[in-house]
Amino acid sequence: MRPTYLEINTTCIRHNLRAIKNSLPNGMTCTAVVKANAYGHGSVIVSQIAIEEGYDALAVAIPEEAIPLRQAGIVAPIYLLGLTRPQSFDLIATTNTIPAVCESTDFEALNACASKHNRVIEVAIAVDTGMHRIGISPTEVLHWIDVIDAYPQLRINGFFSHMANADAADQTHAHEQTQLFNRLVSTVKEARPNKQYRFSLANSAGLLVLTDSLFTDARPGIIQYGIMPSVDVPNTLHLQPALSLHSEVVHVHQAPAGSGIGYGSTYIAPKDMKIATIPIGYADGYPRSLSNKGSVLIKGTYCSIVGRICMDQLMVALPDTLDIHPGEPVILLGSQGNETISVLDIAALADTIPYEIFCGFSERVPRHYL
Ligand SMILES: *Cc1c(COP(=O)(O)O)cnc(C)c1O
Repeated sequence: MRPTYLEINTTCIRHNLRAIKNSLPNGMTCTAVVKANAYGHGSVIVSQIAIEEGYDALAVAIPEEAIPLRQAGIVAPIYLLGLTRPQSFDLIATTNTIPAVCESTDFEALNACASKHNRVIEVAIAVDTGMHRIGISPTEVLHWIDVIDAYPQLRINGFFSHMANADAADQTHAHEQTQLFNRLVSTVKEARPNKQYRFSLANSAGLLVLTDSLFTDARPGIIQYGIMPSVDVPNTLHLQPALSLHSEVVHVHQAPAGSGIGYGSTYIAPKDMKIATIPIGYADGYPRSLSNKGSVLIKGTYCSIVGRICMDQLMVALPDTLDIHPGEPVILLGSQGNETISVLDIAALADTIPYEIFCGFSERVPRHYL
């Protein structure tokens, strides 16, 4: 078995899911966002825990991501957050998912697909309240309700919109979006007083810091995994990171002063140095941009990455005081002794966000569940 693996603590995930659900007003539904294999954490396991914790629905980006969930026997509603092209409409029918729709949707083809499968397809109308990604204009909502209602095999499940700046220190734009969505909700309720539509706006940041983004449903993503959407969002629910990245030393050797380490010899040993090699690289999703920047924990001590990170291996400098042999455990993300490397540290060094680090861990890295 490969010594490089991700460990996912399901107790943390359950704790987080429970705290998030309990923070919502009574009567609100909650949709667990499990796209991109639950941000790398494993969509089937996270979805199963979410359902056990009373979540009402799941959300993925594309219908392909719903297949493993259905194969695992999950029957909860699954929303598709991105737009689906007609080539994939059959998959919507066979996975029984609820697609996002807007004016770019081929409703004729979607209705025909529903007929062919002898069923009704529920749709979620995407509304653009200021993200400018997908969605109808809020001013045209009644028109689109009429358009969709005219198709016998389509049924409107509800309306959702996505926040562009809910995690920013300046909440001006976020409030503009919540106000636009609020007006849309009033317009729809007035026009269709007897319908029980789902109105969903809040993402993680909205759920935590913007009570006016809470309508009938919330869609938390990153916070389920114990990570805040940005440094401007405080961890008021005491959520816990669930994921850690492990490996072990496979080789230790002495590099004489002046030797260049790795491809391009971008690191020159300033003195005789002890170098340890660790079997993880950018093909595993450990960012190559951490070359000569990042560090790992060995025996509770930070050891600097030296030289370029390779596809499958990287090298670190060992402090003279550490007596290290092959087989010694290494933490690349997580805690060891009194020290911690968080996904935020890695994301900052790689000039990106935790989301991208999580999604980058490749399939070749086994996931171990605690
Ligand atoms: C990814 C996504 C979410 C979850 O976002 P987080 O910032 O992880 O909470 C919610 N809604 C939509 C439409 C998304 O694309």
